[in-house]
Amino acid sequence: MRRAICFDDVLLEPSFSDIESRSQIDLTTQFTPQSDDYLKLPIISAPMDTVTGIEMAVAMHNAAGLGIIHRYNTIKEQAELAQKVFEINPLVRFGAAIGTTDKYESRACALYDEGCRIFCLDVAHGHHELMRKALMRLRSVFGDSVHLMAGNIATLKAFNNLADWGADSIRVGVGGGSICSTRVQTGHGIPTLQSVIDCARSDRDATLIADGGIKNSGDMVKSLAAGADAVMCGSLLAGTKETPGTVLRSSDGSPPRKVYRGMASREAQKAWRGKVGSVEGVATTVPVKGAVEDVLHDLEWGIRSGLSYTGARNLSELRCKAKFIEQTQSAQTESSPHALLRL
Ligand code: IMP
Repeated sequence: MRRAICFDDVLLEPSFSDIESRSQIDLTTQFTPQSDDYLKLPIISAPMDTVTGIEMAVAMHNAAGLGIIHRYNTIKEQAELAQKVFEINPLVRFGAAIGTTDKYESRACALYDEGCRIFCLDVAHGHHELMRKALMRLRSVFGDSVHLMAGNIATLKAFNNLADWGADSIRVGVGGGSICSTRVQTGHGIPTLQSVIDCARSDRDATLIADGGIKNSGDMVKSLAAGADAVMCGSLLAGTKETPGTVLRSSDGSPPRKVYRGMASREAQKAWRGKVGSVEGVATTVPVKGAVEDVLHDLEWGIRSGLSYTGARNLSELRCKAKFIEQTQSAQTESSPHALLRL
């Protein structure tokens, strides 16, 4: 049996750097393989109904990242969402989730008619025959006029299969999300960082998106160093002004909160399909955080700083120069602020 490592098990060794200012660091990343399609900020917002709607899609575009609007609505409602995003800014680029069942093709056609060119085939277990059929079908319908993002998967074999079936980018990570209970419910999963390390060995032309369990910019740097082209976030963006959902205020004067929930949680399933199958997520509330622009600014500067500790001016230098070390349990305690533990 092999060991699998997760974000907190490792650190990156600091190395010699000649970078004088973190503003010299370039975070541009390839989004669609073998094309001039780049993201200047390698951060993508998750297609969840408490993360990416109209305002998040626009804000992610404005920050040079990417937003993927969720699919937990009717085709008409999602097409209207897409239309509203283009009302706000006709030049905005965003993606939309479509799944692989339940009229996914009609959904894709409706979104295409609204001008959307990035489709996210998002399912919990993406290494699946339905994924193969959907990817091949959409590629034959739309050719290379669309970017197909697929996932989630956790192994190199799955990564290669999805790439061979037509995926441009692949979401890597099963069971690691902060609101995910897949590993508890099903006994399946692989720590996200291990999956990224495994899938980065692929020789296929698909870009790799690390997804699930990213808690801070340090985890982002570890993902990018391990071979991810971009990272996807749910909880880090949850609670910001741009997320869908109302602000919850309590009468006891405690700080306001917003809902953040897994799309396979009991609550989300009841809301979007009126029935509950296997519950593989939880629902919670998170503190209201303010504008996503500020959250992204902090994350971006954390990543820049991470590259400077490796002496890397860009993401490909980071991948070449990065040296991971495994840390002990006691080192893990030392690795986060621990003064408070002594009080
Ligand atoms: P986070 O950034 O750690 O909060 O994880 C967000 C990711 O969790 C999403 O991008 C999805 O891949 C995944 N996810 C969303 N909802 C669920 C769920 O209900 N169960 C399992 N994984 C989920």
